[in-house]
Amino acid sequence: MKFSVDFSAAVYQGDSGSGSGQSGGTSGGAVKDILADKGGEIHTITTGHTVQEVIDTLNSFKIGALVVADDDKRPIGIVSERDIVVGIGQKGKELFAEKVDTIMTANPVCCAPDARVHEVMQKMTDGRFRHMPVVSDGKLCGMISIGDVVRKRLLELEYENEQMMAYMSG
Ligand code: AMP
Repeated sequence: MKFSVDFSAAVYQGDSGSGSGQSGGTSGGAVKDILADKGGEIHTITTGHTVQEVIDTLNSFKIGALVVADDDKRPIGIVSERDIVVGIGQKGKELFAEKVDTIMTANPVCCAPDARVHEVMQKMTDGRFRHMPVVSDGKLCGMISIGDVVRKRLLELEYENEQMMAYMSG
């Protein structure tokens, strides 16, 4: 299943905090800024589906992970290409017919739209995973990857560097 949440500054009225766009200063940008840039598109699957269906969905959308969600769009797990590689190593091709909950990671670490990008990056690094569902009021509203986070941090650091150079050159 695929659905989308609009995170453009004009529409998103969710959790409080600073607005979207370029954020300087020590607190850095927020996750919702990333979602505003890339769109709040989320690919999900339910526990009733098979690993083969997970593989087909990952391939067709060219993505690395799916959120396993219930009917109310609450995240109950996450399944990434890593889980499939590990599962194939253990069970071979029999894995393909198994249900997604046999390989998913239950209770994934999630973040709020207002979470700071550098904090999310730290959580991904500490937890050694590359995806994080974004949740508001317990429901999915986005998905970000380590690529999104690194891109955003680079832009922030470039901006801070330019500001510093402008300050130093008067
Ligand atoms: P990834 O690096 O995202 O491909 O995931 C590596 C491993 O971490 C896999 O076992 C995933 O199921 C798991 N994983 C991915 N994202 C999360 C997350 N946000 N919280 C907990 N586990 C995760």
